[in-house]
Amino acid sequence: MNTRRKFLQSSLFSSIGIVLTKKTLGASDSYPTVKGKPIVISTWDAGLNANKGAWNHLGKGGRALDAVEAGVMVTESEQSCCVGLGANPDRDGFVTLDACIMDDKFNCGSVAFLERIKHPISVARRVMEKTPHVMLVGSGAQQFAVAEGFTLEPQELSPDAKHAYEEWLKKSEYKPVINIENSKGHGPFAPSQFDNGEWNHDTIGMVAMDTDGNLSGSCTTSGMGFKMRGRLGDSPIIGAGLYVDNEVGAATATGQGEDVIRMAGSHTVVEYMRQGLSPEMACKKAIERVVKIKGEKAKDIQVAFLALNKKGEVGGYAIHKGFSYAVKSNDREELVKAKYVMD
Ligand code: ASP
Repeated sequence: MNTRRKFLQSSLFSSIGIVLTKKTLGASDSYPTVKGKPIVISTWDAGLNANKGAWNHLGKGGRALDAVEAGVMVTESEQSCCVGLGANPDRDGFVTLDACIMDDKFNCGSVAFLERIKHPISVARRVMEKTPHVMLVGSGAQQFAVAEGFTLEPQELSPDAKHAYEEWLKKSEYKPVINIENSKGHGPFAPSQFDNGEWNHDTIGMVAMDTDGNLSGSCTTSGMGFKMRGRLGDSPIIGAGLYVDNEVGAATATGQGEDVIRMAGSHTVVEYMRQGLSPEMACKKAIERVVKIKGEKAKDIQVAFLALNKKGEVGGYAIHKGFSYAVKSNDREELVKAKYVMD
């Protein structure tokens, strides 16, 4: 049986029972709480550097929209398993990138299945600002990028990605791995690499509030490593990987994109905040919804949400241990370990 058919016929997830952690399910709202403006938060340990990029704008009274673009561009330029042109390819050996951006006025732009462009987030912003559309994909997105002056980069894998792809080809297994962070960083689908610290983050989702109190967000990824060609996750989808409502708050997601899409993850988090929940509790409720939908299969996937409200409060929550997020404000710069619902 060829690899493709094997993948299509194989179950993505095995069936193992759910263990809900009493401690975390009963956890009260909410440490650590960070308040104030400007403020920026972003996913995983890569968020520390990304937040610095955002702070170049926020720290000078700049606009949150400029900050969230500049912030995630830092990650797009770094070598990693899962963001930017150096990331793991799809199962046919091509790096395909997804990104979206949203401002404080419901303006949004997105690109998906974009190849050979170094900064998909900036193309997403151009889609938002220069077209009447929200989303461009594939060759059309690339054509638009080139017309806008973006350079078409060579179609080649980074040495790390080439190595990971060659290793992956030996078995061609299509099996999601729960992405967790350890002391050496983290990354899904390449355990041997993250063991030696080469692969240290995946999707970068970022939300920020500027000194005027306006919110914006960005999200960029190469998605699931060795994915089926043409597969999109949640990251470029407004409402799934990212959502901003300037009256309420902003949220972003990381992890198994399919399970974020099916419950409109980031929009759901923002709606919980609209109902009065803190960012952390809003993320927790959304995670509990993912777990409820997935049933026992939730044991085998990671999903995490990260949110910021109009008061400048932040919070995150994950299904499993190992999700962290980076926070930067005038008086704090740190990586926070998120709470989780399952051991
Ligand atoms: N959410 C991304 C996707 O499904 C991957 C991730 O954040 O780990 O494409």
